[in-house]
Amino acid sequence: MRTRLSDAVAGEARQVAETALRACVHCGMCNATCPTYQLTGEELMGPRGRIYLMKQALEGEPVSDLTREALDACLGCRACETTCPSGVEYHRLFEVGHAAILEAAPRPAGARRVRAAIRALALSPAFGALAALGRGLKPLLPRPLKDKVPPAPGRTDRPAIRHARRMVLLTGCVQSGAAAHFNAAAARILDRYGISLVEAPGAGCCGAVPGHLDAREQARSLARRNLDAWAPLLNDGAEAVLATSSGCGAYLHDYPDLLRDDPAYRDLARRLAERVRDPVEVIEALPLEAVAPPARPRIAVHEPCSLQHGLRLSGRIPALLRRLGYEPLPVADGHLCCGSAGAWSLLHPDMAGRLRDARVAALTAGGPDAVFTANIGCWMHLSAGAPAPLRHWLEAVEEVLPPAR
Ligand code: SF4
Ligand code: SF4
Repeated sequence: MRTRLSDAVAGEARQVAETALRACVHCGMCNATCPTYQLTGEELMGPRGRIYLMKQALEGEPVSDLTREALDACLGCRACETTCPSGVEYHRLFEVGHAAILEAAPRPAGARRVRAAIRALALSPAFGALAALGRGLKPLLPRPLKDKVPPAPGRTDRPAIRHARRMVLLTGCVQSGAAAHFNAAAARILDRYGISLVEAPGAGCCGAVPGHLDAREQARSLARRNLDAWAPLLNDGAEAVLATSSGCGAYLHDYPDLLRDDPAYRDLARRLAERVRDPVEVIEALPLEAVAPPARPRIAVHEPCSLQHGLRLSGRIPALLRRLGYEPLPVADGHLCCGSAGAWSLLHPDMAGRLRDARVAALTAGGPDAVFTANIGCWMHLSAGAPAPLRHWLEAVEEVLPPAR
């Protein structure tokens, strides 16, 4: 596609936008896997239409509230990237284009306040206590609020740090409050194989929540804080940074883009991105030997978009669990988003509910004994619509491993 970007689009952002826009041949194949296009059938609610809207905005054409709303409705699932035959890096273009659209057509004050409130809640140290309170009051809550209460967490005990081999664990924000058992399960599994997981004092949220809710500057400062906290550990021999939620892991891989205009952190961000690992990449390389046959072998695995389209690790978790004696059932349209997409489900409850119901139906169609996933947002969102709470796939791994020594 030919482009005539306005002079206001400068630096590396210009190069990112030009590369993506020129690569797009407007074939529309991406529409076939876009959840919002599938729900609405509207061109502007699919990637091709959104790319066209971003092109117009970046070329200095007038931008309306409808343009902003079409971009806001994008889940950021990146299914379009996996489908695109031309290799268009939609998410990188989106980051540049969405910012330009927000500048040309700012949000009303009420919508800005809602986003600020979600950011504050997600990053609040009281999130875990609020989630526990919500569980206690759940029977009294109206349906829409009931659906937002996270399920009860699993085991949170961790082994002592005792091994020379170490990896850094991303602490996270919502996850540390509502699902501390994700990191705890990773720590117990890797401890059996001689790897200690450490959390760096001062590190926390990866930045995805503010980054996706109009607060890129806040996301940058959280990224810098994490880099400052992790650098000494990585320099001291820690092998990798592990994120047990794939959404957070995918965001860590985007730090080089997030900090591209910051000369003090740009190189550090690039080096960090090379050391980020999803637990499946570490665990599948271990000499695993299941000792107990799974008590509930027939399972369904929800592979989050961030894992499939962001980290490109599609199929790896089911393959690992199969190796351990599980029988992962086929899941129809497994490439489709569950509708969580971070805070997107809170801002688009109708579409989010429809996407969730479709995923729950697909995941439970074969009558699995249990359903597993790999991301905090999917875990909370799908649990609200599923007949039984979902679990993290690390819990399935731990169930069949030898007892810890
Ligand atoms: S599939 Fe790729 S090239 Fe085709 S319209 Fe979508 S983004 Fe453009
Ligand atoms: S990121 Fe997902 S929702 Fe957004 S345009 Fe691409 S496929 Fe559609």
